[in-house]
Amino acid sequence: MQNIRYGFKIYGNHLENLSLLSVFLEKHSDRIKIVQVNFDLLESFPNRKYLIDLLTRYDLGLIIHLDDSDDLLFLSQLMSSFSSVPLVGIVMHGAVARSMKELNLHLSSIAEHYECFISVENTKHSTNFYKKAIKKTPVLSFCFDVGHNWINKTELEKSKFLISRINMLHIHGVIKGNDHERLSRKNRKSLVKLLSRISFDGGVVVFEIKNIFYLKREVFSEFDKLLVASRREYREREKGQNAEQGHPPLN
Ligand SMILES: [Zn+2]
Repeated sequence: MQNIRYGFKIYGNHLENLSLLSVFLEKHSDRIKIVQVNFDLLESFPNRKYLIDLLTRYDLGLIIHLDDSDDLLFLSQLMSSFSSVPLVGIVMHGAVARSMKELNLHLSSIAEHYECFISVENTKHSTNFYKKAIKKTPVLSFCFDVGHNWINKTELEKSKFLISRINMLHIHGVIKGNDHERLSRKNRKSLVKLLSRISFDGGVVVFEIKNIFYLKREVFSEFDKLLVASRREYREREKGQNAEQGHPPLN
């Protein structure tokens, strides 16, 4: 898949997970282009140094993940120490619910300075919440977290507006009510259906799976296949709809 840049999120014990990631990259650096980290990983100096070395060695981009309580001003100060690595984007949870006007100005200057994208990611809020946030803060794109969408039953794929603003997918499984798991067979089936609804054909795809032992080459080739299946499903549905409306099928 030429038009997809795959990434992986680092969780938990950061140094340990960073070294596991480096073992994977030694063999398969062709599959991963991006590493996504939580803000707290950047605060500790040994982690920061290890991470910068890793990103530089394998020519990887960085995505910073912000939680609700993370401070944007502190982030921009901290990021100056990351000037040597390409910042691909920033993704945030509910921070957009704070003062929109102030946030808009601040985010626009960060996006311009670092030439990166800034996305809001769905958690438990409704379609309207994200729609409103993106309309009021135009620098924001939409990160569609499929696991959060399943677990919170938000059905955001029904919004044409949100679909049109997707630039990144967060992929993880939901097993027995827990998210950030591997993709089960049931999850993979639902994922094909979901991808066919949003007709996703490119962008950033970050796997957010807590257990880094799941980080295998097959994860990426499996997703490639799911995407091909979803495109087929999308085309078949379109064909069916056209036939129903008496239009000639599209080639
Ligand atoms: Zn996510």
